[in-house]
Amino acid sequence: MKKIMLTGDRPTGRLHVGHYVGSLRRRVELQNTGDFDDIFIMIADAQALTDNADNPEKVRQNIIEVALDYLACGLDPEKSTLLIQSQIPELCELSFYYMNLVTVSRLQRNPTVKSEIQMRNFEASIPVGFFTYPISQAADITAFKATTVPVGEDQMPMLEQTKEIVHKFNSVYGETLVEPKILLPENEACMRLPGIDGKAKMSKSLGNCIYLSEEPEDIKKKVFSMFTDPTHIRIGDPGKLEGNTVFTYLDAFCKPEYFPEFLPEYSNLDELKEHYKRGGLGDMKVKRFLNNVLQAELEPIRNRRKEFQKDIPAVYEILKKGSEKAEKAAAQTLKEVKDAMKINYFDDMELIQEQSKKFSE
Ligand code: ATP
Ligand code: MG
Repeated sequence: MKKIMLTGDRPTGRLHVGHYVGSLRRRVELQNTGDFDDIFIMIADAQALTDNADNPEKVRQNIIEVALDYLACGLDPEKSTLLIQSQIPELCELSFYYMNLVTVSRLQRNPTVKSEIQMRNFEASIPVGFFTYPISQAADITAFKATTVPVGEDQMPMLEQTKEIVHKFNSVYGETLVEPKILLPENEACMRLPGIDGKAKMSKSLGNCIYLSEEPEDIKKKVFSMFTDPTHIRIGDPGKLEGNTVFTYLDAFCKPEYFPEFLPEYSNLDELKEHYKRGGLGDMKVKRFLNNVLQAELEPIRNRRKEFQKDIPAVYEILKKGSEKAEKAAAQTLKEVKDAMKINYFDDMELIQEQSKKFSE
């Protein structure tokens, strides 16, 4: 079986370091292994409109921001197909048929959708499109016959929903759709990177992000304003690591080579953590180290982005070509789906003969 990767992001803002450790970094690594037959990276504008219907301009403006972030991180259009979701009408058609395979109560149980509804104060007025986005996500994944979906932890319920749709479809209509596998980050801190305010998830919609394209001064300001351990008041006090955002970020970003470069008095992160727990290590020193680490990680990304920014029409051209290629793949799957569902009347010679016979008797 072919190895196909699909994943994507909503164009609701520039991409942030949560996206990077949760999915982007992994995509680039996987892309560069050369192990995949096809890689589809989707800018999910139709999904972004499900909770931004009254703000299409925001979505429109952020398409290019997300595309630039992709290229800046090392997604290479020669190896990965970059596409815009709304340009693939086949995805809507697939969603429409999958809707018959899912119950309202099943959607209501989706924990990510539940918390997103709360976060957006949608309780009394949930747009139907938003409520059903897990189904459209199943269409995205299956349209490209994805076998691997590298995403953050919040996407687990979406992958479960997709697998259920695949099973249901295949059992009713015959083996047609491919079951995808979720690929979560290996490191606990990267599953769901918290915001700089310590809140459960860094999210464009919560405004608690460090963006990939952030300027050095702003990165520094954000790092120094970060949530730590509120009971660690004096340097001598013992400090806690749980819920301490600065250490969570170090877990997500620190590499062994950063110690000799920026903090040679420690040989590794465990030693730094032990000292913090014992007491005698101030927040400022840890924040200075994290700032250096983040600056080192983000500088090459920011510089590459600036290069791509010089030729914006070329970036749109990449998205156009990618969307065209993606549409062909989705059209093939849609054809297979319609064949399986027997809604391919005009190609079905057997049906036409059968009906002719029936009416001539
Ligand atoms: P929005 O607030 O508009 O939903 P978002 O910041 O949640 O935006 P998405 O576009 O929904 O971003 O998510 C894109 C990808 O990034 C998904 O794979 C998601 O799991 C991952 N991701 C998003 N935020 C984080 C995070 N804080 N930590 C790890 N992964 C994340
Ligand atoms: Mg999200």
